[in-house]
Amino acid sequence: MPDDEMSPLRTRSEAARSLDALIIGAGFAGLYQLFCLRDRLGLSVKVLEAGGGVGGTWYWNRYPGARCDSESHVYWYTFAPELMREWEWSERYPGQPEIMRYLNFVADKFDLKRDIEFDTRVVSAHYHEAANRWQVQTETGETYVTKFLITAVGCLSTANVPKIPGLKDFKGDWYHTGQWPHDGVDFIGKRVGMIGTGSTGIQAAPVIAASAAHLTVFQRTANYSVPARNAPLAPEFRQYIKEHADEIRAVTHETLNGMAFRIEQRLAVETAPEERETIYEAAWERGGLQFRAAFQDMLTDKNANDTAAEFIKRKIRSIVKDSATAAILSDIDHPYAAKRPPIDTNYFETYNRPNVALVDLRKAPIERVSRTAICTTEAEYPVDIIVFATGFDAMTGPLLRIDIRGRSGVALKDVWVAGPRNYLGLQVAGFPNLFTITGPGSPSVLCNMPVAIEQHADWITDCIRHLNDGGLDRIEARPEAMDKWVAEVNEVASKTVFPMAKHSWYLGANIPGKPRVFMPYAGGMVRYRQICAEVAENGYEGFALS
Ligand SMILES: Cc1cc2nc3c(=O)[nH]c(=O)nc-3n(C[C@H](O)[C@H](O)[C@H](O)COP(=O)(O)OP(=O)(O)OC[C@H]3O[C@@H](n4cnc5c(N)ncnc54)[C@H](O)[C@@H]3O)c2cc1C
Repeated sequence: MPDDEMSPLRTRSEAARSLDALIIGAGFAGLYQLFCLRDRLGLSVKVLEAGGGVGGTWYWNRYPGARCDSESHVYWYTFAPELMREWEWSERYPGQPEIMRYLNFVADKFDLKRDIEFDTRVVSAHYHEAANRWQVQTETGETYVTKFLITAVGCLSTANVPKIPGLKDFKGDWYHTGQWPHDGVDFIGKRVGMIGTGSTGIQAAPVIAASAAHLTVFQRTANYSVPARNAPLAPEFRQYIKEHADEIRAVTHETLNGMAFRIEQRLAVETAPEERETIYEAAWERGGLQFRAAFQDMLTDKNANDTAAEFIKRKIRSIVKDSATAAILSDIDHPYAAKRPPIDTNYFETYNRPNVALVDLRKAPIERVSRTAICTTEAEYPVDIIVFATGFDAMTGPLLRIDIRGRSGVALKDVWVAGPRNYLGLQVAGFPNLFTITGPGSPSVLCNMPVAIEQHADWITDCIRHLNDGGLDRIEARPEAMDKWVAEVNEVASKTVFPMAKHSWYLGANIPGKPRVFMPYAGGMVRYRQICAEVAENGYEGFALS
């Protein structure tokens, strides 16, 4: 829709709804961005959040076993030293309820909730060129007018429920893990069918199996997983975190993936097989995402990756007693960590329980759901409850669900028809004053996300301060800078094993019809942070300011 045809800017109550900045989403990103813009810059800011409370990912994902894979001492905010002193995590990996307590603690401490409208889903955001304002519409028909629009909609907030014929006639209950009921689901005495074996399915299966009468896991893509080795944090370690919080923060700013562990310099391909095995054994015992730290070349050299992949496949076969089940679980078609690498608590062990069965969907795909069963092309599996652990329309999904239109009414979905295009993952040419936190083209999901989020929110805050201080009103990515960045994102991905995972959500491959483009920036958080800093130092190179 051309700009002059757009509805005139109007607000039902100008005073209440005309803002300097509007943020969509009240997860980790939206909360911190609100603090930055309201308390540091003194702007008038509102957050609109579809959920009924703060927390984002952790508000929605309440499925059994929902837990963070980042270790607790790096999965938090580091912008305020007192936060790191006042908060204490109880376990090596925080569970969903504890992260929710943490985010509520932060929101209350900084009195953030008074500027958040909950149960408010944004459906459209249109740029009005003459006024240089965004007009934002909610599902309930409220309109806001704002100079700066910041999406903090998350990378994994649009649940993907596959379109399976017959689901609407299923007479049992079904749930997506990313939209889990707040009062929980009682599995006792029930036959459960769980579809999906990504990070979520791998967390949920052991917990569901412990209470259900029977669990059938439907696997399309076999997956690696490394034991998390979760445990309560010892009082000494909690004390250590308090005393060394600044050092831990500094390390997360020096590592490729925003974690507090450093990746070893040694190369798997240059290490003797027996020594390599000893190193992998130690990494397996230590557990968690640190497994990736065993060798420098694990994600850049397929031969190196093969050594890690083979080690984990052998582990699977040694844990799972039934050899046919073990064969299906270890028949993995992608390099280790080319898809998001899960970590688990007794996932493979769960298949040794008498009440758990595995169905190989590569051999016989799901055809339909009947009133009482999940039906593959070969058999029917009677179930009372279906759990969809089928992930998300990742990264672009939450943005494209909003009707975002920039200059001359051009729709973001049309600009991104062949895949996401932007500059630094932060801005799209033709969409002035719109910033996307951890959007495609930024390290986001390849990084420990609070680190990526703080960097983005800080950069956006500095940028808006720069505009305000200079009496400027508008910032917009230049098309040529965007083209160059898209090329850079593709170039760095091509030097890794990431694009080799054909069914990866990093590539959009889990959503029928979605363009196959490797979405996150794989050049590492350190390099990315440096590029963003240099862009700002050079007067916001690649952006047009006016
Ligand atoms: C099960 C699971 C486990 C994870 N584990 C880890 C981990 O171990 N380490 C890690 O670093 N990351 C992990 N992540 C990624 C996680 O999403 C981030 O760590 C972090 O929570 C992202 O915060 P965010 O604020 O960017 O987005 P989110 O937490 O997703 O919040 C976005 C918010 O925006 C709201 N929203 C979206 N669209 C609209 C709209 N149109 N209108 C209004 N509101 C809207 C959503 O309701 C949501 O509340 C995990 C994700 C999942 C799903």
